Amino acid sequence: MEIAIIAHDGKKADMVQFLNKNKEILFKEHIKLIATGTTGGRAEAVGFKVKKMLSGPQGGDAQIAARVAEGKTKMVLFFKDPNSSHAHEPDISMLIRICDVHNVPLATNEATAQLLLLGLDELQ
Ligand code: PGA
Repeated sequence: MEIAIIAHDGKKADMVQFLNKNKEILFKEHIKLIATGTTGGRAEAVGFKVKKMLSGPQGGDAQIAARVAEGKTKMVLFFKDPNSSHAHEPDISMLIRICDVHNVPLATNEATAQLLLLGLDELQ
């Protein structure tokens, strides 16, 4: 079960706190984490094993979208910062669309991310 984590800079601290809070779920054998580059580095720094894609602005969101389209990534937890704008907004919109196209659960805030993780067993 591959889960993608993405966090905008303004939400990275919240993302790390979320990962730590959910270690029991995320450390399970069948869970594989992937992340955009900087997000993945932050997760590794607190003990998570993460497959890192490119940084978001370099195409990391687009790489994750491709994995969703290919059926590899089964859930996307996106800690989006609604108060900042991004040069790679087209990639972000594309990722959201691809999740909708393939009916892959996508959280764009922490509360939804928590509910998705708690509902993980329903997906399998
Ligand atoms: P980052 O990318 O994890 O490399 O910072 C996230 C993003 O901006 O989409």
